[in-house]
Amino acid sequence: MSNPVYNFCAGPAMLPKDVMLAAQQEFVNWSGQGCSVMEVSHRSADYLEVANQAERDLRELMNISDDYAVLFMHGGGRGQFASVPLNILPENGIADYILTGSWSQSALTEAQKFGKINLAADCYKNNGLGSVLPQADWQLSKDAAYVHYCPNETVDGIEFDTIPEVEKPLVADMSSCILSREIDVNKFGIIYAGAQKNIGPSGLAIVIVRKDLLGRARSVTPSIFDYTLQLKHESMFNTPPTYAWYLAGLVFKWLKQQGGVKAVEQTNIAKAELLYNFIDNNEFYENRVETRYRSRMNVPFYLKDEALNAAFLAESKAQGLLALKGHRSVGGMRASIYNAMPLEGVQALVNFMQDFAKRNG
Ligand SMILES: *Cc1c(COP(=O)(O)O)cnc(C)c1O
Repeated sequence: MSNPVYNFCAGPAMLPKDVMLAAQQEFVNWSGQGCSVMEVSHRSADYLEVANQAERDLRELMNISDDYAVLFMHGGGRGQFASVPLNILPENGIADYILTGSWSQSALTEAQKFGKINLAADCYKNNGLGSVLPQADWQLSKDAAYVHYCPNETVDGIEFDTIPEVEKPLVADMSSCILSREIDVNKFGIIYAGAQKNIGPSGLAIVIVRKDLLGRARSVTPSIFDYTLQLKHESMFNTPPTYAWYLAGLVFKWLKQQGGVKAVEQTNIAKAELLYNFIDNNEFYENRVETRYRSRMNVPFYLKDEALNAAFLAESKAQGLLALKGHRSVGGMRASIYNAMPLEGVQALVNFMQDFAKRNG
């Protein structure tokens, strides 16, 4: 029997096997209709039930109160880099951005097209290790419309271990950590996430926005990116990404069956500990992030002898451990271990890494 395949891709990432099988089973004949869910009107009663159930399940999973709107939008994570300022940054306003890595940098660069951006905290290293500038050293502006940060830097493997305490609405790009740990949604003005890491197919973006922030979009905001308009049309101002929304719904159902966010968080902790402990105790490998800020979702690591990179990638792939190559901007390796990655997958990776080190050390 061949080894099971484990996909460590950073995104689009693996989805739960049970979800893929369920989707496959009803792919051409959905709910007995003789056609795919992809082929029905988004305004049909049956599809609306799928869409509404997905929202209800997400609200339950994240404990989202009625003070917040939940939107299913187009344009992925980057679409929100523009949508956030267009919706809540007044033309002459200012917004604070916290830099911790490459995604928060991209968000800032995009936002600069739309107004004045204050770099409140730059990327920070502590003793040469990737880290987060302590909040006491942030230079927040008095009149910021919002404070933007990225709780989990997918490329750099840096994750906040607490939610920043700020007076202004806190905006978080949770593309790679949404639903991976329990959070208090009430601490945020806006949470957004591209779906392809922890939720479903790419292209879809989930936006959770506190309702008092609505009604502020600039007149030039493209209609499909206008939160207020989308809420009014229940995320169906134009045709939503219906299949992605449906699949997200299956993932939410699966998460509930796993025991919800609290339960998957425990598994995520166990997975991350297994991998980081192995790396820390093996001379052959290293991680370059301060322990406190190590990501539970994306684990970048380096071989001490980088000349072995190509062999490491070829051999891991041959064993069914896919997509371990690090992001081109930082090199090395990266194992993305989102909710759908089972503990056995991380164990298989550790076994391979141990064996590879032994053979090449
Ligand atoms: C993947 C990712 C994005 C970009 O998502 P797209 O859907 O490709 O636009 C943005 N932010 C973070 C943190 C990500 O991990």
